[in-house]
Amino acid sequence: MRVTFSKNVFVAVTNVCRNACAYCGFRARSAEDAYLVSVSEVERLFRNCGGASEALFSAGEKPECSPFWRSVAKNNNISLVEYTRMLCKIAIKHGLLPHTNIGVLSEEELRRLKDVNASMGLMLETIAHVDAHKFSPGKDPKERLRTIESAGRLKIPFTTGILVGIGESEEERIASLEAIAAIHRRFGHIQEVIIQPFAPKKHTPFANRKPPKFEDLRRCVKWAREILPEDVAVQVPPNLVSSARELRSLIEAGANDLGGISAKTHDYINPEAPWPSEEDLRRMISPHELRERLPIYPKFVKKGWFSEEIRHLIEKYADEEGLRRRECM
Ligand code: SF4
Repeated sequence: MRVTFSKNVFVAVTNVCRNACAYCGFRARSAEDAYLVSVSEVERLFRNCGGASEALFSAGEKPECSPFWRSVAKNNNISLVEYTRMLCKIAIKHGLLPHTNIGVLSEEELRRLKDVNASMGLMLETIAHVDAHKFSPGKDPKERLRTIESAGRLKIPFTTGILVGIGESEEERIASLEAIAAIHRRFGHIQEVIIQPFAPKKHTPFANRKPPKFEDLRRCVKWAREILPEDVAVQVPPNLVSSARELRSLIEAGANDLGGISAKTHDYINPEAPWPSEEDLRRMISPHELRERLPIYPKFVKKGWFSEEIRHLIEKYADEEGLRRRECM
């Protein structure tokens, strides 16, 4: 079986967030903790990107609604969307295809980012109203589904997923996958669905909560493969799985993508879990075949769902299948 992955540079644009999810170890809890990545830091990362094809931009959601934003955004007129747009242009200049995942966005905001991104993303997480999201207005499932639908109307290749083990029931996991499948049947823009296990973080309200059992995770992967249309990849993050045997078991249950790994940056959301190298991944999943892809899936490369701004990079990196050209690796 062929299993894909991508190579990225992970840029955490800001840790300022309007939400307060009970499991989050990423968001700033004080003005002293808060940061906004600088242009010079981004330039430094992109100059030495370890063979990546993707610049992954992640951020807290609607930071402008947080009192900490003023301490990091010295220029009062700056918005996260405009700042990220500028960083995407820098990524393109350095030969990287941007993928932006910065929370719930309006259709107008998605449109602003569309031409400078190869794909975008937003985790649905869950269709359920869970206690973990009591202080997170942006985790209202309606808000998130609206963003995913807007991306579909705009023909943006899109990544979403569910977070397993934050207080939702098995039925709600299935309902979340069904909601994603229904949107994809309308718009055809979902390229991958991440099945992400909750991982406890120190000093958070969920610090002592247990992560989901492996069998529960495997069952979710099976459901995802059964519920989602065949052209949607099922992704599992290899750094959140404890052994090669477990990873192969998830592949046998239906997972066919391992997401992005980075040789130069770490997973800011799960800093305790280092990414394996490409060689490790190949060894871990053997005898399955590992192939590198771009942040835009082959189907959307072939359909031409990308802008003129990034055409030269798609032509440079994509082979006849729409995967990453081997001589560019
Ligand atoms: S998980 Fe994301 S949305 Fe929730 S508080 Fe953390 S950064 Fe904000």
